[in-house]
Amino acid sequence: MSASTQTTLFAKQALLPDGWARNVVVEFSADGRITRVESNAEPAGRAIAVLLPSPSNLHSHAFQRAMAGMSERRGPEPRDTFWTWRQIMFCFLDVFRPEDVEAIAAFVQMEMLEAGYSAVAEFHYLHHQPGGVPYASLGELSARIVAAAQTTGIGLTLLPVFYQYGGLDGRPLTQGQVRFGSDFDRFAKLHQEAGKALQALPEDAVLGVAPHSLRAVSAEDLSQVVDYVGNGPIHMHLAEQVAEVDEVLASLNQRPVEWLLDNQDVNERWCLIHCTQMTPRETVGLAQTGAVVGLCPITESSLGDGIFDGVRYLDNGGRFGIGSDSNIRISLSEELRTLEYSQRLRDKCRASVATEIKSTGRVLFDAVVAGGAQATGRKSGAISEGQFADLVALDGNAIDLEGRVGDDVLDAFVFTGDDCMVVDVWSAGRHVVTGGRHVRGAEIRNRYRVTMKALRERL
Ligand SMILES: [Zn+2]
Repeated sequence: MSASTQTTLFAKQALLPDGWARNVVVEFSADGRITRVESNAEPAGRAIAVLLPSPSNLHSHAFQRAMAGMSERRGPEPRDTFWTWRQIMFCFLDVFRPEDVEAIAAFVQMEMLEAGYSAVAEFHYLHHQPGGVPYASLGELSARIVAAAQTTGIGLTLLPVFYQYGGLDGRPLTQGQVRFGSDFDRFAKLHQEAGKALQALPEDAVLGVAPHSLRAVSAEDLSQVVDYVGNGPIHMHLAEQVAEVDEVLASLNQRPVEWLLDNQDVNERWCLIHCTQMTPRETVGLAQTGAVVGLCPITESSLGDGIFDGVRYLDNGGRFGIGSDSNIRISLSEELRTLEYSQRLRDKCRASVATEIKSTGRVLFDAVVAGGAQATGRKSGAISEGQFADLVALDGNAIDLEGRVGDDVLDAFVFTGDDCMVVDVWSAGRHVVTGGRHVRGAEIRNRYRVTMKALRERL
C-alpha cells in the first residue's frame, strides 16, 4: 500500500489554498509528499472529477465502535444520560483482548478512510488487562492500534491517555476505570513504549499525549505531563457535560475552560475536545488562543451533550476540527451537517456560518481541514507542494454533484451527500480507498465480524 512510485492526478476541479481551480495536475512522490501542483494544465495521469484536501479525524476511541447501537434502551435511572451510557461502556471493557482491540481499530480506521478522512488522532485510553494489571509490555494495546494502522494505511496520531483518578477529589478509579489508570511514572514508561511502537509506521505518524480530563488528572499532574512530553499535540476532554462543569466549579472554583485558560499556556499545540459547555466569555477567550476545539457533533448528539457555541466562536477567529469520538456512526458529511443544523435549530436561522464570499459547506470544510491538520500535528491540510498528499476525490457521476462547481460541490457533499460520494482517498500518498472501498476492506470486515461474534459470546 505504500506509494512506491510517483503518482500523477488530473482533477477537473480542485480546492487549492487560494480557492477553486480547474484542470489541476497534482503530483506526489514515493514519500507521500506533494511535489507539483499546476492549474490549467494539460491532462496527465489519473482523471479525477473533484479533488479536495482530506481532513484528519481528530478524536476517536476505536473500541467504542463495538458498542454502537447497543445503548439505546432506557436504564433503571429516571433519565438516561451521558453518565448511564458511560456505565454501559464500562461494562463492555472487560471483554476486550488485545487481538480484539486491533481488529476493531482496523475496522474503524477503514470506515474513516471510506468516509473521506485520511488520518485519525486516536485518544487511546484502554491500556491494561481486565482488573487493571498491566500487560507484560505497557504499550501492548498502543502497539495494537499501530498494527491496525499498518493494515489500513491511515495516518495515525497516537495519543496515549494519562488517566489517574476517578474524580476531581482524587478518588480512586472504579472497577470500570482500572484498565485506563496509571500513576505518572507508569504513564511515562507507557508513553515511551507507545512511541517505540509508532516507529513501525511511515514518517507521517505522530506521537502526542492526552491528559484525559480535569476529572481524571490533577492540576499538578497536568503540568507534569505537558512538561514531560515537550512537543507534539496535547488533547484533553473539556467542558462536555453540565455535571462536569459543576464538579470543576465546586473543586477548582472556576469553570473548566476558564480554569484551563488561567492555568495552562493554551496554544496551537492544544486540542480541547467538546467544549459544549461554555459561557460567551469562555468561548471568546478560547477562540483567541489558537488552539483547536475538537467537535464531535454526532457523538455529542447521541450523548445529549449540548450545542457548541459555534457562531460566536467562529466570529472570533476560533479554530475547530471534527472527531468521530464514540464512533457510533462514522460519516464526515454527517458530522458537518449535524454541526450546522445544531446552530440553525438553536438560533432559528439558516446558513449559520456562511460568509459573504464562502458558502456554508466551504466554511465548514476549510475549517475542519486546517483544524484537523493542526490538531493531529500532520504536515497536511492543503493541496500544495511539500505537504503530505492527504487527498479525497469525489465521484463526478454522483447525481447530486452533476453540474455543480466550486462551493456548490461542498454544499452538495455536506447537505445532500453521504459517503457514497467519496471514491478515492490517499493518506500521505498511500492510495487506501478506490471505487469507494478500502483496498483491504473484505479482509478487515471479515475479521471484525468474527471478533464481534466472539465478543457477544463473552459478554
Ligand atoms: Zn472522547
